[in-house]
Amino acid sequence: MLFRILDKQEFHSLVDLMLESTEVIGPKKIGGAVDGRPIHQYLPLFNFHELDLEYETTEIPAKSYFLPYLENLSTWRFTDDDWSQEIAYRLHPRVILGLHACDINALLKLDKVMTREFFPNPYYISRRKNSFIIGVDHHPCRGGFCRSLGTDTVERGFDLFLTDLGDRYFVAIDSERGFTMLHLVTVRQVTQRDTDDYLAARQEIASGFGPTLELKQLPRVLDLQFDSEVWRRWGAKCLSCGSCAAVCPTCYCYGVSESVAMDFTRGAKVKQLYSCNLPDFAQVAGGHDFRPERETRLRYRYYHQHRGFLEQYDEPKCVGCGRCGRSCLAGINPPEVIGDLLAAEESS
Ligand code: SF4
Ligand code: SF4
Repeated sequence: MLFRILDKQEFHSLVDLMLESTEVIGPKKIGGAVDGRPIHQYLPLFNFHELDLEYETTEIPAKSYFLPYLENLSTWRFTDDDWSQEIAYRLHPRVILGLHACDINALLKLDKVMTREFFPNPYYISRRKNSFIIGVDHHPCRGGFCRSLGTDTVERGFDLFLTDLGDRYFVAIDSERGFTMLHLVTVRQVTQRDTDDYLAARQEIASGFGPTLELKQLPRVLDLQFDSEVWRRWGAKCLSCGSCAAVCPTCYCYGVSESVAMDFTRGAKVKQLYSCNLPDFAQVAGGHDFRPERETRLRYRYYHQHRGFLEQYDEPKCVGCGRCGRSCLAGINPPEVIGDLLAAEESS
C-alpha cells in the first residue's frame, strides 16, 4: 500500500474538483436527536461545507447506495405482438466519501455474497465498480463494538483512506484510480514525523475503545445454547419491526414481486430488502411458517450474523457498527444478547 500526505487545503480543492465532475455522497448533518447529538446521513453533497467528517455515525448505512431498499430489476412491455425488456444498471460513477472502517468492512462482506461465482448480483457489482470509496479514521462510536470483531481498521476495499493529523491527512492509497485521483492536487511524500503522528493518532483511537467481547467461542456457544432461555427473554421484547436488518450494513435478504398493468401490456419486477425478524419471513407456500415465534426469528438473525455466515465465508457477518442496537425500540442490542449467551454457557 502507498501512503501520501494531503494538506487540508488540498483536500478541500480535491473535493471541489470531484463535486464539479461527479456525484459525491458524504456524511451530512440533517438534524439533532433529543439528547442533543447531531444526526448524520450519507447524502449527495452540493458543496464542501456540507461535508462533516467529524460525524460519529449514521443511522442508515451506505448500503443503500449499493443495495437500495427498493430496486426496479427490469421493466417489460408488449407492443406490436412482440415483447421487450429493459434492465438498467446504474453505471455513472460516484464518490462515496467519509466511510468508517466498519462500513468499508461491511462492503467487503457484501462483496463476498454479491460477487461470488454462482449467481453474482450484476446490479450490485456495477454500483460497487463505479463507486470511488474514500474512508476516514474516527474515534469509537456509542454502542459500537467493532473492535471485538476486528473491523475497527481496514486494509482494503477503499480507494483512499484518510487519517486526520490536524493540519493534514495521512492518506492510504489502495487502488490505481486512487493514486491517479491524487494527481489532481498537490500531495507530498510521508516523512518520519508524519509516520510518528499517524501512529500516535491510531494509538489514541485504539485507546478510546472500551473492553472487548471475547467472541472466539461464540459460534460454538450459539450451537450449545440453541434452546437457551436467553432467546425467550430477548425474543419476548422483540416487536418484529425489522428495523435492525434495515439499518444493518451487511443484511441483504430480499423479496421480489412483479407488478403487471391491468391490460397486460407492461410490468415491472421489483426487489425489496426484507428482514428475517418480520412475522412472515419464514412463511412458505401453503402457509407453513418455519419460524412463527419472535424468539426463533431473533435467534435466526444472530445465527446468520455469527454462525452461518462464518461457516460459509470464514468470518462473521456482523461488523459491530451498533446500528441495530441504536435503532431498536425494544432495547435489543448484540453486546447484551451475546453477553447473556456467553454467561449462560459459563454457568451451564
Ligand atoms: S430486534 Fe428490535 S429492531 Fe429488530 S425486529 Fe426486534 S424490535 Fe425490531
Ligand atoms: S448486526 Fe447490528 S452491529 Fe452487527 S453489523 Fe448489523 S447493524 Fe451493525
